[in-house]
Amino acid sequence: MSRICLCLTASTLRENLGVLKLCRDNIDMAELRVDLLSASELDRLDRLADFPARCPVPLVLTIRLPEDGGHWGGENAVPGNVCPGSAAAGSAAAGRTLEEQREELFVHLLKKGGWAFVDLEEGRPLERAVSAARQSQTRIIRSLHHFGQAPEKPEAGFWADRLKNMASEDVIPKLAFYCRSSRDVLALAHIARLSSDVPEKVILGMGEYGMPTRILARRMGSLWTYAFHGDSLDDDSPGAKARPAAPGQLSARELDELYRFREITAQTPLFGLLGNPVSHSRSPRIHNTWFREQGLPGAYLAMRTDDVPAALETGRIWGMKGFSVTVPHKAKALELSVASGTLARRIGAANTLLAEGEGWRAENTDAPGFIAALVEALVLKEASALAGMKALVIGAGGAARAAVHALDEAGVKVIILNRTPEKARLLAGEVGARWGGLEQDSAALLVNGADIAVQTTSAGMAPMETVNPLPWWNFRNCRLAFDMVYAPEETVFLARARSLGIKTANGLSMLQYQAALQFDMFRKSAVTE
Ligand code: NAP
Repeated sequence: MSRICLCLTASTLRENLGVLKLCRDNIDMAELRVDLLSASELDRLDRLADFPARCPVPLVLTIRLPEDGGHWGGENAVPGNVCPGSAAAGSAAAGRTLEEQREELFVHLLKKGGWAFVDLEEGRPLERAVSAARQSQTRIIRSLHHFGQAPEKPEAGFWADRLKNMASEDVIPKLAFYCRSSRDVLALAHIARLSSDVPEKVILGMGEYGMPTRILARRMGSLWTYAFHGDSLDDDSPGAKARPAAPGQLSARELDELYRFREITAQTPLFGLLGNPVSHSRSPRIHNTWFREQGLPGAYLAMRTDDVPAALETGRIWGMKGFSVTVPHKAKALELSVASGTLARRIGAANTLLAEGEGWRAENTDAPGFIAALVEALVLKEASALAGMKALVIGAGGAARAAVHALDEAGVKVIILNRTPEKARLLAGEVGARWGGLEQDSAALLVNGADIAVQTTSAGMAPMETVNPLPWWNFRNCRLAFDMVYAPEETVFLARARSLGIKTANGLSMLQYQAALQFDMFRKSAVTE
């Protein structure tokens, strides 16, 4: 089992202990970032040396330099902040380098004992610290931090060999790369695969792209993942000043309770969301909650994706069984699939990929999810009751394609208006609909109004919160104004409809319905594989 290691990043030991207490149930170990403690805290070295004894979990001792992403050498490393009684104490402290002061502190703290691990960066000799660690039975982590570009796939072998060499020195190698693309994450997955015979290691990707490597520490062969205490606290609470120690870190609670990190084994069915952006997606919350509530093994994570083939290859390495696909990758997902459902082919976009043999099967649940939400909002018995109605669809992108084909299938007559009229024309041609631009000269198409108005563009959503794509329309004969956007809850389009007394619905129920259909497919694929 991989463990959850809480990073203690507050400036005082008291605050750090408070955070530990709050997170105790969600963590297995902790890392004390001594470089983030205040100068006054470091003046009381005896209290610092006693910290492991007061800490309820195994502790990692870390004093990080700025070039490795730390703060040692700021206000907390002025001469004088060296160990009392040491050769460097008093006036002798002046003139010693920051690295010498750091090693002095390592040696002092390790000699006092109680630390389970000490993190010493690879490439820095720190021989006295190494010897103090060996004497005090403290396991040594040798860490490598790369904030530049992650290596290309062919270099994965080089990094895997480097990890193996480091491990042969009886240390735990740790590799942390800043991931700036899906290719960077793929490179890390390859390194993890090639170094699978190193039983004790940590490999992780920093940044939003790297987040899946933190959740899937077990798949990466990592002994633990790092977490922070992320719950909002009021200013007086002990953990108020806690912060993530590295970009892309998740909170211990999120890892433990949402992703069920400690239950993820080599057999756990894994699913993901491919999109860009994904940080505000509700899908991880929706799917992980269903897995938990239904007592099923399974984890679902958002994967920021700028390169779908690379993300799918990473998914293969991790043994992932399926994906949700969102903007802007739905057409690409269909293109890369080896098999597809009729709806996905008709719509020309897939929002679901399921592992099938060596490839992926494409499906689309947006269309049935949309119809289910529409039926609910109109309080109809079933979709067949939609037949004969007239719908205005605003937009001609992926979401509009799903709506237009679903409405056509349900026997609804469609009018499509889009900012780029040519795209409206092309989509309209697929179902024999009428079409136009968003300008007022399209009013002629709406003289008899429409029973349903479906807003499918991203207008109304940040950063276009104030944009109504059809401000001139009076919602004539409209029974329902439906907006696929759900954040904000009410777009300016819906607000105007409501002000005219029209019933409104946002895209949240569609999201839930399409996710439920997708979850059903995920569940079945998890059982049959
Ligand atoms: P897409 O393929 O990129 O299409 C974007 C559409 O928005 C195009 O028609 C585009 O017009 C139009 N547009 C963009 N900016 C506009 C503006 N300022 N004024 C007028 N029109 C504008 O994206 P998509 O996949 O269709 O997604 C669209 C929205 O639907 C997103 O907000 C997405 O989150 C939401 N959605 C919700 C659900 C759900 O379950 N609730 C499901 C799918 C999608 P042009 O053709 O002129 O560029």
